[in-house]
Amino acid sequence: KELLKMEPDVKVPDLPVGKPIPYSKLCEVFEALENEPGRLKCIEIASELFTHVLSISETQEDQIRNLVEVNYLTINRVSPDYEGLELGLGETLLMKALASGTGRSMQQLKEDMGEYGDIGLVAQKSRSKQSLMFKPKPLTVSQVFNNLKQIAGLSGSSSQNKKLAMINKMLTSCDSREAKFLMRSLEGSLRIQFAEKSVVVALAKALAENEMRQKGKKINPDVLAQADEQIKEAFSQVPNHELIIETAIKYGVLNLMDHCTLKPGIPVKPMLAKPTKSITEILDQFENQEFTCEYKYDGERAQVHLLPDGTLRVYSRSSENMTQRYPDLIPVVEELKRLNPGVESFILDCECVAWDKKQEKILPFQILSTRKRKDVKEEDITVQVCLFAFDILLYNGESLIKMSLKERREYMYDNLKVIPGKFRFSEKLDSSDLDVITKFLDQSVKDACEGLMIKTLNGQDSLYEPSKRSRNWLKLKKDYLEGVGDSLDLVVIGAYVGKGKRTGGYGGFLLASYNTDTGEYEAICKIGTGFSDEMFATLTEKLKPTEVAEPKGSIIYDKTSSRGAPEIWFEPTMLFEVKVADFTESPVYKAGASLLGDGSKGVSLRFPRFIRIRDDKALEDATSSEQIVELYEKQANLN
Ligand code: ATP
Repeated sequence: KELLKMEPDVKVPDLPVGKPIPYSKLCEVFEALENEPGRLKCIEIASELFTHVLSISETQEDQIRNLVEVNYLTINRVSPDYEGLELGLGETLLMKALASGTGRSMQQLKEDMGEYGDIGLVAQKSRSKQSLMFKPKPLTVSQVFNNLKQIAGLSGSSSQNKKLAMINKMLTSCDSREAKFLMRSLEGSLRIQFAEKSVVVALAKALAENEMRQKGKKINPDVLAQADEQIKEAFSQVPNHELIIETAIKYGVLNLMDHCTLKPGIPVKPMLAKPTKSITEILDQFENQEFTCEYKYDGERAQVHLLPDGTLRVYSRSSENMTQRYPDLIPVVEELKRLNPGVESFILDCECVAWDKKQEKILPFQILSTRKRKDVKEEDITVQVCLFAFDILLYNGESLIKMSLKERREYMYDNLKVIPGKFRFSEKLDSSDLDVITKFLDQSVKDACEGLMIKTLNGQDSLYEPSKRSRNWLKLKKDYLEGVGDSLDLVVIGAYVGKGKRTGGYGGFLLASYNTDTGEYEAICKIGTGFSDEMFATLTEKLKPTEVAEPKGSIIYDKTSSRGAPEIWFEPTMLFEVKVADFTESPVYKAGASLLGDGSKGVSLRFPRFIRIRDDKALEDATSSEQIVELYEKQANLN
């Protein structure tokens, strides 16, 4: 409702009707977003931009193409994230491009970089000194998008020179504002504090408005809410901007889900669980519901897709295509097809676990993590894996997520046969008896599992909810029972210089949670315990190349206070899983501050302890500031 009332203070520039969209106009909007601190206003600005794009496009094809391009450039991507095409070019390459594109020396550029800490601002200040005989034509959104896509896809020995040439060519056509955003896009961070989640809300509004306009009606809060729900559901089931925009424009955003459904080859955003601390808490929560307990395997989440053409795809917890890492699963799927002749396609939610073939038992996660991640050849694999399927989301082209868990599970048992030591179903127990569950939990731990997953079995509450952290799935880890508390996955944003035994290296780290509304990393705590000497060495090796002179614009930290400020800052690239005793309010650490009281204090962690590096999660999958506040408030209610 608030969104409908809102008038942006900034006027989104007019775009030429029926013509290519000038890149300069898009950059004007980026600058407005950069200068606007209010999230709702940012959404309004973006949605107005998208509405303009739709109204100036003359054909449906133009609408689709223009909106896809503008939308991708706003989230700074060139394709769905599961395709792995990424921007994020190195600073040196970008400086080289700037040097030859503007005639400035590397030395001057380095000095500017030291001063501004932002390649975009350096580019903006670096007015071209080269006089050109002919003024090049202004850049269009399509050109920039296609070039960025091509640059992201270039690899191999001559790719650096090709990238340089393409960037140079674009730079010669840029004014200073365009140069700023072009450089930032190439670097992988637009610094407009506008995360994908907010772009999706803006998209829903623009598409709904467009649809209502075509029907000669005005948008109202119910229509907006419906569009928002449809588009969010579509994104969790088929996270592909192009496909969703195309379907929404062709069939209407209000009926989007009648035309958008799971597809083998497109990873579904996984359903997630909420933590619980005891079996009695579970019994209280599921008092009048039928539920099931499953082993919580300690491996790597694997969403296994069989495509109708017979190929296999394996997607990670963060929807990354990791098929190449598991060539040993290809024969497993071949065997599955042979054993189950009726199967044409499926999507299975599984945990991929290290497996001791001789002793026929599960091995701990640490063993799985020793497997190579790149250039894996089947003949070199020493750590075997077994897939434990715990859910089925699609079978032979038909989505099953609206079935109850009981039905899905029966469907899975009926249509797929197990392959000992290679493909099995998760161990389960359907009981609500405290003693029986306690025994099952103990057994799961003896069988090298982390504990149990408890899931509602029947009715509406047991449907598969893509991307949701649902109350209908609870995780009970053995660690919670030991009173250590829940574990969090936090972004490493800085480090402290080591003292004593750690002299010469890092002494500890500064961590942050992720704000999914703004796309910012909000400092949450210092961490210095739980690391072995080997781990410190590994971290130094991995983090050293990511050191930057200044904290990135997307890092939120109380810069007015020197208390706890790290000496070293990083480009965020890594997540730590940490255990924590409890939460506390803090004036220095700003995690969740915007969601808490007057915004002057954030939440911090007491006694955080390092468990492991989480490289199966993307930065956006870090524990969110919203979750931190939820956990803090839950703790406050308990006390
Ligand atoms: P989250 O994203 O919920 O914080 P996480 O990736 O940190 O989760 P956990 O907190 O350990 O992992 O719990 C959920 C994970 O447990 C799932 O993502 C999945 O990989 C794993 N898992 C193992 N066994 C099961 C099961 N039977 N059902 C569902 N998930 C399971």
